[in-house]
This record gives sequence, structure tokens and C-alpha cells, in this order.
Amino acid sequence: MEITYYPDPFLRKLADPIDKITPAVLKTLDEMIEFMYVANGSGGVGLAAPQIGLSKRLLVMDPSSREDEKIKKPLFFINPVITHVSKEEVEYEEGCLSLPDIFAPVTRPEACIVKYLDRKGQEKTIEADGFLARVIQHELDHLDGKLFIDYLSPLRKQMVGKKLKLLEKIYKEKN
Ligand SMILES: [Zn+2]
Repeated sequence: MEITYYPDPFLRKLADPIDKITPAVLKTLDEMIEFMYVANGSGGVGLAAPQIGLSKRLLVMDPSSREDEKIKKPLFFINPVITHVSKEEVEYEEGCLSLPDIFAPVTRPEACIVKYLDRKGQEKTIEADGFLARVIQHELDHLDGKLFIDYLSPLRKQMVGKKLKLLEKIYKEKN
């Protein structure tokens, strides 16, 4: 498993829904969460399938691993959909495994309701607020080809401009 880095156009694709939860899908989820824990050193608390080159609507996350690496409360989301967001918005600093070393404050709704299928194919709903709502919205964006830098004001985008250019240069050299 390898991280897909900005500005790979793969990160801009609309990911496909999962039509059947097969053992292969569950295995992918397990591999994703293990990979995310390993990548946690660079600040990952969530991972979307497109970030590992898989255009599928799968997310894994563990917001608790931010507080304590030893506590593991993995969350798995299959075909997640945000059905409601709060009017109240908050600013919070975000980073992304696909955009190493880039951090910037992003304004998003403070809370959201997300519907998804769990590993058994059962429909679940989570009402999330605070950090969990933040991670869910950030990760779900990956399934729609969106990145957190898309939300930055021109000034803030300029502030991370050098680092973005560097990633663009690295990508060009590799491809
Ligand atoms: Zn991300």
C-alpha cells in the first residue's frame, strides 16, 4: 500500500460505491486501518481509499489515536453519505497524508450526521461533532475528489504555496 500524493489526478476522481461487501472489501478495510496506524506518525487519524489508489467509497478512521496511540477505536465506513450539517461552523487546523507537511485552518460545519454501511452491511447513522465531525468531513471529501486546500482563502493558499509547489515538483519528477 502506498499513499497517493497531491497533485496526483487520482485524488480528484469521484470514487465508486461498493455494491457488495465481500471478504475482499473487509480485507481492504483491515489493511487500510493498519496502514493508517503506521502512517499515524505523520498525523493521520483517517484514510480514504482514493489516498491509497483505490477509487472506492471506503473510509477508515480513529480519532482516538490522536490522543493516545495505545487506544485503538477503529471506525469503518462503507458508502458514507453526509445527510445533515450544522449551521454553526468552526475553524480547525487540518493536515492530510496526501499533502505531507502542509497544515492550514479550514472552516467547516461543527457537526454532521453521516449515514453509512458497517462491515456487516447494516445501515448506521452517526451524529458527530467536534473532532470526529471534522475528520468525517475531511475524509468524505476525498471520495468526491476534494482536498482541504480547496477551502483555503487565496491568502492562506499563498501561505502554503511553496510547499504545494514542492509537492508538484516531486510528482512531476516521479511521473
Ligand atoms: Zn486527507
